[in-house]
Amino acid sequence: MINKIVIANRGEIALRILRACRELGVKTVAVHSTADRDLKHVRLADESVCIGPPPSAQSYLNIPAIISAAEVTDADAIHPGYGFLSENADFAERVEDSGFIFIGPRPDSIRTMGDKVAAITAMKEAGVPTVPGSDGALGEDDNQNIEMAKKIGYPVIIKAAGGGGGRGMRVVHAEATLLNSIAMTKAEAGAAFGNSNVYMEKFLEHPRHVEIQVLSDGQGQAVHLGERDCSMQRRHQKVVEEAPAPGITPEQRARIGGRCVEACIKMGYRGAGTFEFLYENGEFYFIEMNTRVQVEHPVTEMVTGVDIVKEQIYIASGVPLRLKQENIKFTGHAIECRINAEDSRTFMPCPGKITAYHPPGGPGIRVESHIYAGYTVPPNYDSMIGKIIAHGDSRASAIARMRGALSEVFIEGIRTNVALQMDIMDDTHFQAGGANIHYLEKKLGLS
Ligand code: ADP
Repeated sequence: MINKIVIANRGEIALRILRACRELGVKTVAVHSTADRDLKHVRLADESVCIGPPPSAQSYLNIPAIISAAEVTDADAIHPGYGFLSENADFAERVEDSGFIFIGPRPDSIRTMGDKVAAITAMKEAGVPTVPGSDGALGEDDNQNIEMAKKIGYPVIIKAAGGGGGRGMRVVHAEATLLNSIAMTKAEAGAAFGNSNVYMEKFLEHPRHVEIQVLSDGQGQAVHLGERDCSMQRRHQKVVEEAPAPGITPEQRARIGGRCVEACIKMGYRGAGTFEFLYENGEFYFIEMNTRVQVEHPVTEMVTGVDIVKEQIYIASGVPLRLKQENIKFTGHAIECRINAEDSRTFMPCPGKITAYHPPGGPGIRVESHIYAGYTVPPNYDSMIGKIIAHGDSRASAIARMRGALSEVFIEGIRTNVALQMDIMDDTHFQAGGANIHYLEKKLGLS
């Protein structure tokens, strides 16, 4: 079993990893920037190492500094959390080459999933349903590309193979703008991602975002933990997530989950992972795989009782998967609201000192947050300061508990998006379940 873990992240996820380590009796090393000396997990960790100044490029993305921290503290593994270096194959490789365990997939799996064309090819081979499209990077032949779009049917979307974070894609509604859009997306992709390959997909007009959580030991065993619906998004950023996804039947779950499990086994995938799908008219269409723990993992934990971060650590330790698919049961419904330090109406980030803080509580409420009264939210990082998760025996009861929790949150000194989250919980369309990925922006008057 792993003895000591360097937590190469910050904020709520660093604290979440620290808690899993403590439960397992694993020692922890917090690495942090000079802006983050007062983070809760830095104070709670067995050891801490300052790895650089506030800008992420010089601290949380500073590979030599993180590996040196593992060396000087005699740690044996590095947990990357989400964001930062978590999906950087070169980092995973450097970690392993330096003699440490990377708590995540093998570098080649990260590399394959980081190239969307390669990822889609791997999924097709493994029998995971994908969006009808070009089946590979687009070639130079204009006529062939025009024919392909005609065959797929407009609207189509041109996407960069190396894209991420909602960038590097363009929707095309008619043939007149096709070639120009391909050329522009290629040029932008080359400049932004160093890879000018682009591919074409059918543009789905009213999909939901439904994703499957998997755990796979890289030794031939894998399970799925069901799905999450993350359709409440603003600018491709998830705002509210839930499990299970409204309206998905146990048969649908077993079928698509089974495909993902088979794909993991076929790829020799190791670790936690998420298969992201667009879901429209009862069909799943793979869009990408995230090779790390996700922000929204707690909703799955609440309905399955599985501790995903602990399982990541077991898998990285080389322990064969302890879970069996037939033992995974889904109980009730869980909803997560992301709490951001930002204005509820303008979405402007609002860093600063939290002068007073009272977290919510009560039956079925879980709070994942690193904030405390007196803590200053630095301006250098993502504005998410925590997550509230509500679990109930039904979706309606989870919503009722979330409403209660949101009404209890008391944060003074900075502005937060709690009022927006309450608006979403009060929205009759959200309450009905099954809203598509454009709903929130429409409600906000943004599209
Ligand atoms: P990224 O890695 O940048 O997040 P994704 O491939 O996951 O890129 O796509 C991001 C978002 O773009 C999706 O969640 C969806 O909103 C939209 N999108 C991507 N592909 C399609 C498609 N074929 N049809 C409709 N929307 C799409």
